[in-house]
Amino acid sequence: MNIADSPERTLGGMRFLQGQRAVVTGAASGIGAEVARALAAAGAHVVVNYTAGAERARKVVHDIQQAGGTALDVQADVSREDQVQALFARAIEAWGSVDILINNAGLQRDAAFHEMTLAQWQNVLDVNLTGQFLCSRAAAREFMRRGVQANVSRAAGKIICMSSVHDVIPWSGHANYAASKGGVAMLMKSLAQELAPHRIRVNAISPGAIKTPINTDAWATPEAEARLLRLIPYGRVGETADIARACVWLASDQSDYINGATLYVDGGMTLYPEFAGNG
Ligand code: NAD
Repeated sequence: MNIADSPERTLGGMRFLQGQRAVVTGAASGIGAEVARALAAAGAHVVVNYTAGAERARKVVHDIQQAGGTALDVQADVSREDQVQALFARAIEAWGSVDILINNAGLQRDAAFHEMTLAQWQNVLDVNLTGQFLCSRAAAREFMRRGVQANVSRAAGKIICMSSVHDVIPWSGHANYAASKGGVAMLMKSLAQELAPHRIRVNAISPGAIKTPINTDAWATPEAEARLLRLIPYGRVGETADIARACVWLASDQSDYINGATLYVDGGMTLYPEFAGNG
């Protein structure tokens, strides 16, 4: 996406995140890369985290810098406690603190349930759920240490958990993924309840089908896309910018009274589309 069409512009040209410091996990591709660009366009300094794909991460940083923003790429596996600690230490060293965490890193290891290996199950839970636990804990510690800085934001910090429509829609062949996102939903709500007195807001975004590398098979051919569209009342597959816009808003003071909510950005996928013709 061209930075000129960025969510910052579509929200009326306001730099809603001016001077705030954000960590976006898994930001070398797909939704994370777009979110990183959008947060930067809205005025935030952004850590572009990645595990694999250093070149792609550097490209995201480069794009942001070219557009006049500030960004830094930092390698860390979100499922490893020591690496998450190092990730936050690096962000704090660079910019003094962290105000926004986007828990975006995620993966799929699909298998029929009776053939699913423990390694496939564990890998998905480690990254999608434990990764969000480790990053949220590191962020919460920093938010609580620093407290509210009224000139930066009304909140001491904001955490956005990238979930999925599969936190409510069961998904055959993806039991590990659906279980991880169901876990994210309750992790998010429990954190929102526990951390609210510290003026920390925790919310989730649950994307529907968004065109990214994670799901190329589902939309790359016209036949696959037609099959997918049967599940989307709004009649188009989502774009990463759809999620990035929601993320900027949910991270900004524009949504200051929203805590513990899940925003379904899915073109109506969760509206039981098979009942649209009277069931
Ligand atoms: P993607 O594969 O492009 O992005 C996921 C990123 O996470 C990749 O860059 C990957 O390298 C990174 N990652 C994987 N393991 C990691 C680890 N241990 N530490 C750090 N980074 C790691 O796919 P995407 O669609 O952009 O997915 C982003 C998020 O959105 C995921 O949490 C995914 O579950 C969620 N999501 C995507 C869709 C969709 O339709 N694309 C729908 C619902 C939810």
